[in-house]
Amino acid sequence: MSRAEPMSTGEPMSTAADGFHRLYGSPPEGVWAAPGRVNLIGEHTDYNDGFALPFALPHRTEVAAARRPDRTLRIHSAGFPSGVVTLDLEGAGGLDPARPPRGPHGWAAYPAAVAWALLDAGLPLGGADLHIRSDVPTGAGLSSSAALEVATALALTDLYAVPLARPDLAALARRAENAYVGVPCGVMDQMASACATAGHALHLDTRTLEQRHIPFDCAAAGLRLLVIDTRVQHALGDGAYAERLASCHGAAAALGLPALRDLPYEELEQALARLDDPVRRRRVRHVVTENERVVRVEELLRAGRLRETGPLLTEGHASLRDDYEVSCPELDLAVSTAEAAGAYGARMTGGGFGGSALALIDADGEAAVTRAVTEAFAAAGFEPPRVTSAAPAAGAARIL
Ligand code: ADP
Ligand code: MG
Repeated sequence: MSRAEPMSTGEPMSTAADGFHRLYGSPPEGVWAAPGRVNLIGEHTDYNDGFALPFALPHRTEVAAARRPDRTLRIHSAGFPSGVVTLDLEGAGGLDPARPPRGPHGWAAYPAAVAWALLDAGLPLGGADLHIRSDVPTGAGLSSSAALEVATALALTDLYAVPLARPDLAALARRAENAYVGVPCGVMDQMASACATAGHALHLDTRTLEQRHIPFDCAAAGLRLLVIDTRVQHALGDGAYAERLASCHGAAAALGLPALRDLPYEELEQALARLDDPVRRRRVRHVVTENERVVRVEELLRAGRLRETGPLLTEGHASLRDDYEVSCPELDLAVSTAEAAGAYGARMTGGGFGGSALALIDADGEAAVTRAVTEAFAAAGFEPPRVTSAAPAAGAARIL
């Protein structure tokens, strides 16, 4: 499957408003932006009511938008096919969840889903014209989907002056992706995009949507976070993700718990002894130890002991690879090579089956680690990875 490439028009990000003007013949009323995210730790915990610790990327999706006097939604995304996609907010072939705009209009399902979820929640929205542009790589485990959803939700609610708290906006964006697009994701991605703040990781309780902003200044600690996009496209919509989710929910039910979040780390071994299925045992062990790793990483960040989070990241990767079985050879190679080249720790980030890894390295080690990973990929016959460094950036906001 080839990865859709936004920005293929080669225009700079700042032209979202210009692009809108050219497309629709008048300037937008505003431009709203929402970032992609990297999850530092806490993977596959969010559909188990657990904890996660993501931060926002500087890469973002912008939505230039203006109200329309009718009940029509027109959507266009730079670099994506199909031109302007037109939907009727009244349903009838437009926003009916039974008839999502799939096929060649696949991408348009995301903004359409958001409009549907907002309307379905009873929010008084009218029609709008939207023009989207983004530099968040798609399908790279960096949550371009959540960036698009959150930016769209923010644009529509701001345009119509509908007050909506950020956690509620994130929850509706998640509902859009679950119920309309058909991806059974948890709420972490949308919360990270909607609520993160610059210079901080976002500690997220995915049951209560409580959030804490944890200072996370790698540069001040002489460190850097590398994001290694393996260029292997994940497909979260496929059965593997749903199978993990079903396995976790089944295990929680078998243990008489509302969710695996309710299994304390100290009681893990006893609980595992009560589960017959070895696969289920491994899945449970990942989720419970991963929640514990989030707690410990948060403590280390608060204590300013950033380097010491490294081994927990690496442990998290092993758990995802061996117990949760959602890694792939490219992710494993990125992680092992980064470590051999001096990283304090590394792990896959995002849902897995491709996408990106992250590595915590010394600030002056970027060139060496990048070279090592690039060479290892070439030697293995893998596509060249895309390696960038990322510092925690701001969450969604109106930018014009
Ligand atoms: P991820 O969220 O990890 O990038 P997903 O598979 O969840 O991967 O979401 C990627 C999909 O989201 C794309 O294939 C496309 O349909 C949609 N998408 C993301 N960004 C954009 C964009 N800027 N314009 C249009 N569609 C987008
Ligand atoms: Mg996604």
